[in-house]
Amino acid sequence: MLIAGNWKMFKGPEEAGVFCRALRDADLGEVDVVVCPPYVSLGEAVGALAGTEIGVAAQNVHWAAEGAFTGEISAPMLRELGVYVAIVGHSERRQLFGETDETVVRRALAAIEHGLHVIACVGETEAEREAGETGSVLRRQVGAIAAGLNEAGVAETDELVIAYEPVWAIGTGKTATPEMAQEAHALVKSILNVPVLYGGSVKPENAYELASQPDVDGALVGGASLDLESFATICREASHS
Ligand code: PEP
Repeated sequence: MLIAGNWKMFKGPEEAGVFCRALRDADLGEVDVVVCPPYVSLGEAVGALAGTEIGVAAQNVHWAAEGAFTGEISAPMLRELGVYVAIVGHSERRQLFGETDETVVRRALAAIEHGLHVIACVGETEAEREAGETGSVLRRQVGAIAAGLNEAGVAETDELVIAYEPVWAIGTGKTATPEMAQEAHALVKSILNVPVLYGGSVKPENAYELASQPDVDGALVGGASLDLESFATICREASHS
């Protein structure tokens, strides 16, 4: 069971350091824990969490090792900083910054090739769910990642985790029912047999029920990961599931 806290564009270095030092002493139950600070706070988080089992992830990573890509960060640069995990394809990247299935696959493959673990996000919009297209959207998004892995000859990888994040549930307070999450996770796993996290308004109150579903292997938590007590409670609830 993996619980990842996606901080989005919150917590600069100072606040990240304070949070991570407190996280060291928090009761997080028996789950694997990762925090995903903004780029400028990664170094501070790595330093504060050194010697613990808590991982630090970037919120994105470019496919090139270096080059003329203003505003981007590469996998080797993250590794140099002591960061060994990256999120790719978050719906905010897909919706606001033009990320496509193709760029998500390129980012994921390059990260894996450079020795990073990857959390690749997929999920349908509200309109797509209402139109009955959830299955076809997931087949397209996850299928693109599976095809990319196949072409690169890394079809069997331990470095990849999928996060199923229905777009309509992200930051909205609306959560997929445990049954909806289970159905989507089972579909994802039928295409690509990797662990699948659920994301979308996970809170202390719903973490146990969601994490109890057989194909839910953890959670990607946004807003509720910014507060230490709420994040720690989610970790403990998931740990009991
Ligand atoms: C996320 O950012 O991945 C997310 C799921 O956000 P929230 O928990 O705030 O819905």
